[in-house]
Amino acid sequence: MTGIGFELLATEGRARRGRVTTAHGTIETPAFMPVGTAATVKAMTTDAVASTGAEILLGNTYHLMLRPTAERVAQLGGLHRFMNWDKPILTDSGGFQVMSLAGLRTMSEEGVTFKSHLDGSRYHLTPERSIQIQHMLDSNITMCLDECTPYPATPAQAESSMKLSMRWAKRSKDAFVERPGYGLFGIVQGSVYPELRAESVAALTDIGFDGYAIGGLAVGEGQETMFTVLDFTEPAMLKQRPRYLMGVGRPSDLIGAVRRGVDMFDCVMPTRSGRTGQAFVRRGTINIRNARHAHDDRPLDAECGCPACQRYSRGYLHHLFKANEMLGPMLLTWHNLHYYQDLMRELRRAIADGRFEAVASALEARLAEGDVEATTDPLGKPPKPPKQNRPPKAEKATAAAKPETPPPDTAAAEAAPTAPTPAEKDAPHE
Ligand SMILES: [Zn+2]
Repeated sequence: MTGIGFELLATEGRARRGRVTTAHGTIETPAFMPVGTAATVKAMTTDAVASTGAEILLGNTYHLMLRPTAERVAQLGGLHRFMNWDKPILTDSGGFQVMSLAGLRTMSEEGVTFKSHLDGSRYHLTPERSIQIQHMLDSNITMCLDECTPYPATPAQAESSMKLSMRWAKRSKDAFVERPGYGLFGIVQGSVYPELRAESVAALTDIGFDGYAIGGLAVGEGQETMFTVLDFTEPAMLKQRPRYLMGVGRPSDLIGAVRRGVDMFDCVMPTRSGRTGQAFVRRGTINIRNARHAHDDRPLDAECGCPACQRYSRGYLHHLFKANEMLGPMLLTWHNLHYYQDLMRELRRAIADGRFEAVASALEARLAEGDVEATTDPLGKPPKPPKQNRPPKAEKATAAAKPETPPPDTAAAEAAPTAPTPAEKDAPHE
């Protein structure tokens, strides 16, 4: 298959600097793909997404097949035109979201039957149907339908799951309509077992794909295990085709995986975290809701060129979140996506210059340093009235009726995993 091109421009150790070519333009790798679940990167216009440097977006087959349906997107000109994004798009197969609908789905050799989380209506997703939907969406990079093996899995469970995914990969390939500038990626499974991962790589290489994804990671196994799996999986993968690590990750995951030969990533973390007040910066993470930011006149990240950092203080962003203003999630999403793209730019440049290891280690060291606290609030804390002057009891009760408890102002709170917003809780993963 040569639907999409891949050129390896430079390497250092196992780290790779490359370029993917599609019908909608090129993608410099290593690349991070923002997630545009329902034909939109939440809280961002596509112009804003492009301004961060993103060259490819991910769309979710599961969400789009339910609403507005692939047929509707096709009728309205395909996903690029529908969402006003003329650069490359990768779509997932829908499998990951469907598998997460525990209790609402049944698996068979043929495919998976599930009930929509929107209205309970029944759908049948097969490898062939997933490929057909992605074709209608006009996705530049189509993903095979697979079963994302749950973690942990016994060797027997992981083997039968991987083998099903390999049979589905063959059916996906047979169903894929080849077009110049459009490609199909296979997905390596096999959980944490070296021999199963090796068997999966060999099976997919035999079938032949435009690129190879590594699936079944970032599902709770932890960074160390993920890196170990990459260490024994990557060497067997074809050098001349792009590798995509699905659903990853935090900035330190990206650096470690680029070091291990990965070219492409996607993750909801920068967008989802941004909406709940967590910012990724060069010195780790910041929870802008924390009280310590209220009087802070500094930007989120002094080295960032995004509008949130160039035009606004932490104090203002803190205020927006405390007041539930929608500009807060918009600006933090913008910042997080800009930071992720800056990180990838820096890694690409470093590989090209033969300085990858030095740059990666320096980036990792700074991430581990943590945020620098602001100086003391010039307004100080609201003065406590001396005991004899305290208001009478009735008044005191009124004042205490609605206590405001700020989130704990600790490093642990900054690093706390981001909870989905109430509206997102019921929906399957992005
Ligand atoms: Zn910024």
